[in-house]
Amino acid sequence: MTKNDCLGQIIDSLLAIQHRGQDAAGAVTYDGSIFHIKKGNSLVRDVFKEKNIKRLTGKVGLGHVRYPTIGSGSNEDAQPLYINSPYGIVMVHNGNVANYRELKEKLNASKRHINTSSDVEIILNVFAESLKNKTKFSSQAVFDSAKEVMEKVKGGYSVVGYIANKGMFAFKDPHGIKPLFFARKGDQVLFSSETVTSDVLEFDFVDEVKPGEMIWVSEMTRETVRKTLLRKEYRPCIFEWVYFARPDSIIEGVSVYEARFRMGAELALQMKDKNISADAVIPVPDTARTAALAISEGLKIPFKEGLIKNRYIWRTFIMPNSEKRDYSLRHKLNPIKSEIRGKRIILVDDSIVRGVTSKKIISLVREAGASEIIFASTSPPIKFPCIYGIDMQTKSELIAHDKSVEDVAGFIGADRLFYLSVEGLKKAVSLINPKVFVAGTNCFCDACFTKSYPGDITEEELLTVEKERLKDRFISGDQNVHSIFDKKKQLS
Ligand code: SF4
Repeated sequence: MTKNDCLGQIIDSLLAIQHRGQDAAGAVTYDGSIFHIKKGNSLVRDVFKEKNIKRLTGKVGLGHVRYPTIGSGSNEDAQPLYINSPYGIVMVHNGNVANYRELKEKLNASKRHINTSSDVEIILNVFAESLKNKTKFSSQAVFDSAKEVMEKVKGGYSVVGYIANKGMFAFKDPHGIKPLFFARKGDQVLFSSETVTSDVLEFDFVDEVKPGEMIWVSEMTRETVRKTLLRKEYRPCIFEWVYFARPDSIIEGVSVYEARFRMGAELALQMKDKNISADAVIPVPDTARTAALAISEGLKIPFKEGLIKNRYIWRTFIMPNSEKRDYSLRHKLNPIKSEIRGKRIILVDDSIVRGVTSKKIISLVREAGASEIIFASTSPPIKFPCIYGIDMQTKSELIAHDKSVEDVAGFIGADRLFYLSVEGLKKAVSLINPKVFVAGTNCFCDACFTKSYPGDITEEELLTVEKERLKDRFISGDQNVHSIFDKKKQLS
């Protein structure tokens, strides 16, 4: 950003991407001599008060909404993070560091103090240590330091940072797993995870930040320089189109709305082959609505609204604690009994992760009088943990990990269950932009369905991430995890 009241624009952007994380929010601005930081464990609207807007002055800044991955979820872990040496650097990121423990030990050994359990602090310290060791500051020194991050840090990360009085930068991991794009309005520059922010702020989209690329916006020369530092196979997260991104966002030229519609159309084809008949197609609001429309069209079965969502309750899947999820679901959805009673329903949802939410929704629809429930998931079976930043890391919690489709249907209480196939999902997204996503190539990260993790992730690293995640949940008092520990004694 390069506008004096940039905080207002940052807050507007954060509100537009609040769906990406509701655990914490924060922002930093720089007024030419001092960084002003405000962050807290709450929603954007609750973190930023009138007095903060007055205090956080400056024409450059960063904002963040946190989705908890590894980390205790404390206030200190909220982003942006600041480091005073060299020059004064602030940073935010989206993603997850897979070799967090190893890098933390190395940084500690090199006398760097790691103060939080947020993995952006690892990226920030690797970057700062490298920049500090350069003989003098230059744009090339910034590129070289980002390259060192890409060489050392495994995982999926999109990073935006600012170096006091020198410039702003953005870079993506070499596989380009997490979304990040940049936009302009006059001499203002915007980096963001989703294009909805440029719509809201009326910026013009310029391009995606490419895998392994850094974009440097120099305050000294006013130049914008792009360099690919370390590129590997492009593997953007396919789950962004399934669930995470807003339907009005566009990632790599692929409209999230259009992709979801095509997912529904592909799923309808799979169901047609099995001679499915029903009285109504009902979406679980809101993500699945678009796919449900396509299923309704494809199977020629009427689309109905049968579940009403209370919009003022937090999303369940990204809430960190399963007890909160249970509480929230009961207060979030209410059935329209007249649309359900005595009917054979195709219930469409975006995914089945732990199975607990799907089970509760099915029971709600059954209690409302459905005579038969066919459950349709626009995501394939989620069998493996995500180590790149989506909160489904513990294998033991994934219902499809060791169960057949029939067994999952039994667990959630569905009469029949259909998952979109991995091929169908890839086809739905890639056909919209075949220039970038070439059919038949390994052009997405789909590791949570296939275990094909981008990068050389070892079994040991997978196990470490699993244990860290379980430990965090245990500490937060998650009863599901307590029972896993009781049964398996996973932490010795
Ligand atoms: S493992 Fe799944 S959720 Fe995680 S980045 Fe890959 S596709 Fe996305």
